[in-house]
Amino acid sequence: MTLTLLFAASDANWAEYAAPLRDAIAQAGLSATLTREAAPDRVDYIIYAPTSPLQDFSPFTRCKAVLSLWAGVERIVGNPTLTQPLCRMVDPALTEGMVEWVVGHALRHHLGMDRHIVNPGRLWDPTCPPLARERPVTMLGMGELGTACARALAALNFPVTGWSRTPKQTGDIPCLHGEDGLAKALSTAQIVVTLLPKTPETENTLNARTLALLPRGAVILNPGRGALIDDDALLAALDSGQIGHATLDVFRTEPLPQDHPYWSHPRVTVTPHIAADTRAPSASRVIAENIRRGEAGIPLLNRVDRTRGY
Ligand code: NAP
Repeated sequence: MTLTLLFAASDANWAEYAAPLRDAIAQAGLSATLTREAAPDRVDYIIYAPTSPLQDFSPFTRCKAVLSLWAGVERIVGNPTLTQPLCRMVDPALTEGMVEWVVGHALRHHLGMDRHIVNPGRLWDPTCPPLARERPVTMLGMGELGTACARALAALNFPVTGWSRTPKQTGDIPCLHGEDGLAKALSTAQIVVTLLPKTPETENTLNARTLALLPRGAVILNPGRGALIDDDALLAALDSGQIGHATLDVFRTEPLPQDHPYWSHPRVTVTPHIAADTRAPSASRVIAENIRRGEAGIPLLNRVDRTRGY
């Protein structure tokens, strides 16, 4: 039987994904038609990005799964018309990109690179940075991305502490959970990385109270979601010096509005949601594998738990 795969994403996504998806589907041994238009009751799988106009999933009565091209699913997980299984994107190349962004920005702050890159006064200051082993890092979120970043930082000798919703052990990396765990994880962190999903529980995880728990001058790296941080509280903490620097990749409104105070704050670095992109060739293989599993009756990969919201 030839499957009908509806590609519901932007024109730009289609230009990027059409060829790699067709290759991956063929390599997975599937017979399928990949299309941007189909009668809803003929569609077997939907390959989806939230930028698509498709918001009502109820006519897709035969659809066996909605396969997201995005890792974060907050814009679709609460859709009441979505009764089909939802899978989010876990793409090895996306993970690789996130590890590079996090390690790169952590090393920038750890080594104090800015002092030497921008040094108009030609100041000869031979102060050496501490070793990584002396710079505690806390990873808020120990899922696919947080764990990979934590491992990479730990491999450079940073003492990494993780924090997640449920108790876990990731090799030698201690991982805390719950309110008390958060307070403990923040109390020693000189660098904090936020890689939590956006859910009602994670909104404003970093707020005036929790930012005050950090050692003075701590650095925040946020490649997770803008809503994880209370912006006003962060700006106040940056102004007071409680937070030494914030490198932010994600924002409540994107693109970040031109008049947003983050753009001009001397202790903020803005990157335009580029920490980790889904890469079409590897992501297409993940999508094809999930369709193969769906057809073989094997549990789907990366299935979203609607009740917990990620
Ligand atoms: P994931 O595998 O689902 O992991 C999420 C982690 O957050 C898990 O460790 C989970 O705990 C923890 N968590 C969830 N709710 C929590 C809570 N209330 N309290 C404490 N911990 C909580 O997600 P991922 O693949 O690592 O991705 C994380 C996020 O990165 C995505 O949701 C997305 O927003 C963002 N992202 C950004 C970019 C970018 O370019 N900037 C790219 C991709 C993804 P448990 O382990 O106990 O479940």
